[in-house]
Amino acid sequence: MSNLGLYIQVPFCQTKCTYCNFHTGVVSFDRFAPYVHAVQQEITNASDLFAEAGIVVPTEIVDTIYIGGGTPSLLNPELLTGLLHTIQERFPCALQEVTLEADPETITREKAGQWVSSKINRISFGSQSFVDNELKAAGRMHRSADIYNAVPILRNAGIHNISFDLIAGLPKQSHDSWRHSLAETIALSPEHVSVYMMEIDEGSRLGLEVLNQGSRYSARELPNEEAMADFYELAQRDLRSAGYEQYEISNWAKPGFASQHNLKYWRREPYLGFGAGAHSFSGQQRWSNLHDAAAYAAAITNGTSAIENVQSVSPQSALEEELFLGLRQLAGINLARIERQYGVNLGDKVQRLASSGMLEQQGDVLRLAPAKLNVSNEILVELLR
Ligand code: SF4
Repeated sequence: MSNLGLYIQVPFCQTKCTYCNFHTGVVSFDRFAPYVHAVQQEITNASDLFAEAGIVVPTEIVDTIYIGGGTPSLLNPELLTGLLHTIQERFPCALQEVTLEADPETITREKAGQWVSSKINRISFGSQSFVDNELKAAGRMHRSADIYNAVPILRNAGIHNISFDLIAGLPKQSHDSWRHSLAETIALSPEHVSVYMMEIDEGSRLGLEVLNQGSRYSARELPNEEAMADFYELAQRDLRSAGYEQYEISNWAKPGFASQHNLKYWRREPYLGFGAGAHSFSGQQRWSNLHDAAAYAAAITNGTSAIENVQSVSPQSALEEELFLGLRQLAGINLARIERQYGVNLGDKVQRLASSGMLEQQGDVLRLAPAKLNVSNEILVELLR
């Protein structure tokens, strides 16, 4: 049985980026401490809350923690120290990787020092772009100078594992500006890089503007689909030449620095989420917490549960997850094991997709063809049909 990963959701930001479709809010700083105290209470009372909801968790040993959001680096570091202390009091821990999401403009020498003292050993850094016009158009708070300032602060504090996020498809982005962001990323030599493709949907202000054919938020200056495909290929090429191995559709790492926590999601290993809107998976059940931060904190402080949507994963859903999540990894999946475990034969479908160059099969291992990762969704839909 794999060890547990813990995810802590901090749903607060300084402003709302135009493209953001996450459930986060801008609130005054005095809301942070009561929220974190509610999360600590939820963690402390986890056994009772799970028992009440009929949830069975297979192990208690925690080896990865991921504090995400939102912008958890906004929190006073003492709150993060308290949170990590509560986790270690409640769960037996063999911590390998403790990640904090941090935005460049929020990082100071004092905070970084306290993060390291609290056992945070990995920073997921919201760099997004090195072009100020793009950052400004997207409503980001930071500028490229903040990135150059923050990285040495993190290194000097003793962080040896930094992951940069980049977004392909920001308004005003061009081939040249994308090459520049990739080159600057590589020059700063983070251990890990995530490249996310811009999503346009009704969940963000920019998405709504595009769908309504408006022009606010530089909605008419988005790169087209062809450019997006080029950006992805450029990332693959430049990161590979710089020594990064692509291990997942959106993720690259120097040897030994793949995210241990995120691998649990794609491998269907158990993780528990605490905080508003956090999702959990026990191996047999999936569930989530109330999305609204105020409703979540009120439920927990009143001694009631914030858990909702507890679902047992049916064999059919488990099979779909094995394919949909497992094939995101470039290492692929063990097809023979999956066919045996779920009593299915995927031979015909796999053969059809392999002969059209979408999938590759080597013995028992099935993976997406490396040149087709940019159309992975279409391939996965075809396989699951
Ligand atoms: S910092 Fe991240 S979570 Fe916050 S609004 Fe911007 S994109 Fe959304």
